[in-house]
Amino acid sequence: MTVAHRLDAIYEDVRQRNPGEGEFHQAVQEVFQSLAVVVDRRPEYLDAGVIPRLCEPERQIIFRVPWIDDSGKLHVNRGFRVEFSSVLGPYKGGLRFHPSVYLGIVKFLGFEQIFKNALTGMPIGGGKGGSDFDPKGRSDNEVMRFCQSFMSELYRHLGEYTDVPAGDIGVGGREVGYLFGMYKKITNRFESGVLTGKGIGWGGAQVRKEATGYGTVFFAQEMLRTKGQSFEGRDVVVSGSGNVAIYAIEKVQELGGRVVACSDSSGYVVDESADGVDLELLQEVKEVRRGRIGDYAEARGPKASVADNGSIWDVPCHIALPCATQNELDLADAKTLIDNGCVVVAEGANMPATPEAVKLFTESEVLFGPGKAANAGGVATSALEMQQNASRDSWSFEHTEKRLAEIMADIHERCADTAEEYGHPGDYVLGANVSSFQQVADAMIAQGVV
Ligand code: NDP
Repeated sequence: MTVAHRLDAIYEDVRQRNPGEGEFHQAVQEVFQSLAVVVDRRPEYLDAGVIPRLCEPERQIIFRVPWIDDSGKLHVNRGFRVEFSSVLGPYKGGLRFHPSVYLGIVKFLGFEQIFKNALTGMPIGGGKGGSDFDPKGRSDNEVMRFCQSFMSELYRHLGEYTDVPAGDIGVGGREVGYLFGMYKKITNRFESGVLTGKGIGWGGAQVRKEATGYGTVFFAQEMLRTKGQSFEGRDVVVSGSGNVAIYAIEKVQELGGRVVACSDSSGYVVDESADGVDLELLQEVKEVRRGRIGDYAEARGPKASVADNGSIWDVPCHIALPCATQNELDLADAKTLIDNGCVVVAEGANMPATPEAVKLFTESEVLFGPGKAANAGGVATSALEMQQNASRDSWSFEHTEKRLAEIMADIHERCADTAEEYGHPGDYVLGANVSSFQQVADAMIAQGVV
């Protein structure tokens, strides 16, 4: 059997063992598509059974999360934590609170996280968790009661040397605060390294909030550099308007780019003004008022217009940063972006481009930075937060941002060098997958069949 056939057989087995988990299948397939070149050179990866083991989480936890809303009504949500791989360090990865969350989403995110975390060069394994709870429209007290109920079960699986969650969609500073408070109360320990994304002043790290968005822009900047270009004077489209999008917008603007559109799940806004999106106003609407993207357009006046049909990727740009959610950029969007002269796409979100879109980008002149590399700045800065917690230290904003920029440049170089080494220069998808897989697989072989 050829290497390709053996990989196909393993993938088919993964599909059958995990029925109905489309996003997880997609994430596995995306990695497998890059592996033939490395397994050809290193057949021991197949012979040692590393790949099927890697596709099976070490532990999957599913639990009931009951809570009572402000009117006294009982709700029951489902909580998840998938502890995927501890081969490089404690399980590390965020929690997502969104009604679409089910086991397949958590497994896709956890699987991606193994490789992303390896790319950071930090000693962290891969995990992910969350709940089908929808925080939209809930009061602070309701969110607090939900987080407390969620942690009253999850705490027994966590620990600074075991499993260290952080935020993701629907989980920001407010939620991390409530989760940490409950963990501390139950365990009677101020174990600051057990959660990252904490508030500055009680164990949080400078730049963690900004890190994923900033890191994505740093990665895109490295890609632009290979073409002798920069953000200066360029039009940029950033999808989403949550944590990742907001700080990506901030860094693009600092680097002289103009952000001409952003979005949320209700639609997108095109901002034609000379400076592009008004970040201060967007933050006020999204982070303070917890409003919708239409509220931003309304407050911005005639300079900005809301579109509720078509796609944000119809807006012409030089650089595209998808920062909202999985599968938000499909083949038609990819074609439009290329036709409109887009030269760089960097994924701030996890798996926002569909496989067909990724294929088109990698076969075209567009430089495409996959999420596991381009958005790794968030988890890398979480690892810096753990480092500071362990040494009871706290670093300045400037120092931490410099570390983040260095880490993103290293990840870029690692992906580019590996792609080159395997005869696919400029293919960051292959570079990211092969480089991180090799590190994880070597560690698995060294640690034996466990
Ligand atoms: P937030 O909850 O802060 O923001 C998510 C944003 O995406 C919101 O604007 C949301 O709009 C929008 N969105 C969600 N679903 C859709 C949809 N179907 N169509 C259009 N817009 C949508 O989450 P984050 O910013 O933290 O996360 C965004 C992405 O980045 C996710 O893929 C996440 O996994 C990834 N990521 C996050 C990291 C982090 O540190 N936070 C680290 C690495 C990756 P609405 O409010 O209407 O739902």
